[in-house]
Amino acid sequence: MSTNNSSSVQEFEYKAEMKQLLDLIVHSLYTHPEIFLRELISNASDALSKVRFDALTDQNLLEEGADPGVKITVDPKELTFMIEDNGIGMTEEELIANLGTVAKSGTLGFMQALKDQQKELDGNLIGQFGVGFYSVFMVTDEVTVETRSARTGSEGYRWKSSGQGTYTIEKIEKAGRGTTISFKLKEESKEFAEEYRVEQIIRKYSNFVDFPITLDGRQINSVTALWQRSKSELKDEEVNEFYKFIANDFQDPLDYLHVSVEGMVSFKALLFLPKEAPPELLYRQSELENRGPQLYVKKVMIQSECRDLLPEYLRFLVGVVDTEDLSLNVSREIVQSSPVMAKIRQILSGKILGWFDTLAKEQPEKFRTFYKAFGPIVKIGLNTDFTNRDKLIELLRFESTKTAVDEYVTLKEYVGRIGDDQKEIYYHSGSSRSQLLAHPNLEYFQDKGIEVLLLSDPVDVFVIPSIHEYEKKPLKSIEKADIDFINEKKEGSEPLPENLLQPVLALFRETLGDRIEDVVESHRLVNSPVTLVSGKDALDSQMERMMKMMQAEMPAGKKILEVNTAHPIIRNLSGMYMANAGNPLIGTVIEQLYDGALLHEGGLDSTTDFLSRMNSLIEAATLQR
Ligand code: ADP
Ligand code: MG
Repeated sequence: MSTNNSSSVQEFEYKAEMKQLLDLIVHSLYTHPEIFLRELISNASDALSKVRFDALTDQNLLEEGADPGVKITVDPKELTFMIEDNGIGMTEEELIANLGTVAKSGTLGFMQALKDQQKELDGNLIGQFGVGFYSVFMVTDEVTVETRSARTGSEGYRWKSSGQGTYTIEKIEKAGRGTTISFKLKEESKEFAEEYRVEQIIRKYSNFVDFPITLDGRQINSVTALWQRSKSELKDEEVNEFYKFIANDFQDPLDYLHVSVEGMVSFKALLFLPKEAPPELLYRQSELENRGPQLYVKKVMIQSECRDLLPEYLRFLVGVVDTEDLSLNVSREIVQSSPVMAKIRQILSGKILGWFDTLAKEQPEKFRTFYKAFGPIVKIGLNTDFTNRDKLIELLRFESTKTAVDEYVTLKEYVGRIGDDQKEIYYHSGSSRSQLLAHPNLEYFQDKGIEVLLLSDPVDVFVIPSIHEYEKKPLKSIEKADIDFINEKKEGSEPLPENLLQPVLALFRETLGDRIEDVVESHRLVNSPVTLVSGKDALDSQMERMMKMMQAEMPAGKKILEVNTAHPIIRNLSGMYMANAGNPLIGTVIEQLYDGALLHEGGLDSTTDFLSRMNSLIEAATLQR
């Protein structure tokens, strides 16, 4: 009070680059003025953390006066805003160093470059350049900072600036330690004097700051940093509330994982498995590129969707990762390339897959819900995360010819129940369970009671064939031509003798020409006359269909037509041919059989010919009386 005469007020000039920086901040770059509040709260919280830390070793710090915390006071009539903390405070030298210069070299150049590229800086960036404090000039024309360092013997100072090139410092009386920042809001920023608006912003950005934030005497951040607690201290109810808040979900999560790691890197994480996949994720997996948990550094949020924390195939998880091993002011680029992040990602991925595995073993119902919702996404990991490939393979679940609808079998179970004689793991891929079950290629396996995995998830054909083998048993599509069939002769269904067989096969070859690779006698068919299979190196037909849908370039794969020579149609056809090689029905029947096989594959492009041929065959059939 007594020192408040003009002679003790000292004027300082900002460094040249500081002027430019201020100009950029206020006039060009920032589009979200509300960010100023987050920055001021984050500084106050830093100051409180520092004093808390220093107090561990220094008994002589100034008294707190009150419980540590951040107090905000607004007055919508006067348009005044005040934020107060009882943290570490600043000495005169610190004031000059911290609020008068740009801390980081290169910051100005970087910001100028952004401006030249006419890029907008989203609010998230400001704090990353060590210039967060100056964002306050977006909402006011003049700021007053009153501060007193917690060091013993320090005195109070008032720093004042209109952000125009100079600032003043004077000595003042200040009772407790800490910092009070006050200003009058610009008319256009008057919303920040409204309690509800300020509360909203605090909740949005600072809800989990580790110190109480009060607004006009009322505490706003009710929830503390849950992830900092030990697992036993977590209450499901609270954890669920937290999930709903950060995920914007109205349902409770399916399950959550709490991780606390100390060692090469230290971090805590709280990750949630939603009950359902957001539809946009399933239809556009590119959505995953921009997702990720929130990244906190020392309890301050750095990125709200940090993609670098998790591999893409796990980015449907929602939550928080908090580490002490990054600096608060890291830029996105630095986060991305930081070895700390790589380590966190690696450890987290392992923990998450372990969590899924435990769910599978201990809570199969939950696991099933999870797998139905996110299985298609997790499977992508098989092609991208080779370190965890084996774990991912164990998580796979399949419907099979021996499971009921919506029941699953693992590869381990499959291998466990096939006999030693069965050397291969068979799968069949297509668009739906019912379509798969009706397919002629399955007849042999059904007849012999051999279990076949039914792959109806569209991503299956991109990932499952790449497994190659499991427990030394190769995975094989049942539509491959080179399967070892063990056939015993069946009563009443004699295959055609060789002298009749060859002409029939030749007849098919001649009629179908280069639409097919070959025509051979089938050993897999029981009830159907013909089927299409793939040669050794051909694409799986489901894969072919997917590629077509994605309009990808691919070689037109030719199929092999297998003919069931014990089938009445084929036997009759042979007789028809022997009687009259010129019978026009022969060609019609062969075309129709071929199209029918295509239809099973989902590979018949037009049904026009198929239907008109069908009508002429019906006509021929109805001639008989
Ligand atoms: P950053 O927080 O990234 O360092 P800021 O521009 O937000 O950059 O703040 C600059 C510096 O001013 C801080 O590093 C800190 O030393 C000092 N400071 C700002 N606010 C406070 C406060 N409330 N208490 C103590 N020191 C502060
Ligand atoms: Mg700051």
